[in-house]
Amino acid sequence: MDNNYPNRPNGSPQRPPRNDSPQRPRKRISKELARKRQIIALCVISLIVLIIVIVIAKACSKDKDNSSSSNSKVNTTVTTIVTNTSGPEMTAPPTTTTVVTTFNPDSSGFKMEKYTILLDIGQTETAWITEYPDGSGEEDERWSSSDDKIATVDAYGHITGVSAGECYITLQSAADPEQEVQIKVKVADPNGSIEQTSEKKEDTTESPQQLAEAPAPPVHDDIKGLTYKEGILLANKTYSMPEDFNPGLEPICEEYFKKLTEDAKKEGLDIYLGSGYRSYKDQVLVYNSYVETDGKEKADTYSARPGYSEHQTGLVIDVNTINDAFGETKEAAWLAEHAHEYGFIIRYPKGKENITGYKYEPWHIRYVGSKVATDIYERGISLEEYLNVDSKYPD
Ligand SMILES: [Zn+2]
Repeated sequence: MDNNYPNRPNGSPQRPPRNDSPQRPRKRISKELARKRQIIALCVISLIVLIIVIVIAKACSKDKDNSSSSNSKVNTTVTTIVTNTSGPEMTAPPTTTTVVTTFNPDSSGFKMEKYTILLDIGQTETAWITEYPDGSGEEDERWSSSDDKIATVDAYGHITGVSAGECYITLQSAADPEQEVQIKVKVADPNGSIEQTSEKKEDTTESPQQLAEAPAPPVHDDIKGLTYKEGILLANKTYSMPEDFNPGLEPICEEYFKKLTEDAKKEGLDIYLGSGYRSYKDQVLVYNSYVETDGKEKADTYSARPGYSEHQTGLVIDVNTINDAFGETKEAAWLAEHAHEYGFIIRYPKGKENITGYKYEPWHIRYVGSKVATDIYERGISLEEYLNVDSKYPD
């Protein structure tokens, strides 16, 4: 690079090349330079390596963090499983081993009243849902049993013990199948331990609804043409009663209605019988007069055709004044909250018109006994939904 000295105008050929004298030092410099460059290169390389190492180390530690945090999540889940599913008494090992690994109540929008249910063989209990996931409701309930040989479950969460053992009932949301919750079911051995019996007792007293015990209504199995389901006489637009079914107001209904009015009175409320039993013939008169006034189509929304009126069952009372304004009274509010304690249900609830076939009637109460009434009240469903029946006129 420096060899152009001969072209220099002042350069003499004898003279050592101008750059000769610095030749040796130059050589030395270039060695030094080379070494320097090597060192610099080494430094740069080690710096790059260092940076790479740091980056990789950082990335690794991030991964580690993630995995350790997900590990801790898993641990939480496992802990929850243990707390929620293993009771103190594991006397009877499950016939079918079902390992529940996904159960974590916190991850589900469903909140249940109980996560463990104890049953005897043949006994039915309802799994109460106290909270639904967002955007889900009772129409989204999907129930299943991990072992139908131990306990079955129907579409409404009624769990029935079949044979001794343990299994899980799963409730899933049809709208969002990821939302699910599991309930452990233990069906007691008929020769089971005292421990189980005592826990079962504890379990039943947990329910505040054991306070009132209005018995189930009578069954007239001697009368032809009546339809009963789960001991409940069906009377709606699908199920009629014969003209000669004439029970009068059932004494049990009258007795518990009296208790109801007396307790309401203690609260300063006036609830009284407006209309009770109506015979087939009475209903002919009532219905025909409504048809004359409003026409058949409209009359069918609030008045039953003869033979289809629930008032003919002798288990129905219309309280106070039969008009929509009753729904705004303190009496109606109290009735809606307490009727079930006396064995009554608000028979045609608001929002269930398409299911019951009738408009909302806050005054029309039906006696079904406190067990069924409480069931229906707590789930906010209609009798048709409870019994899984239709209410539609055949024509
Ligand atoms: Zn009525």
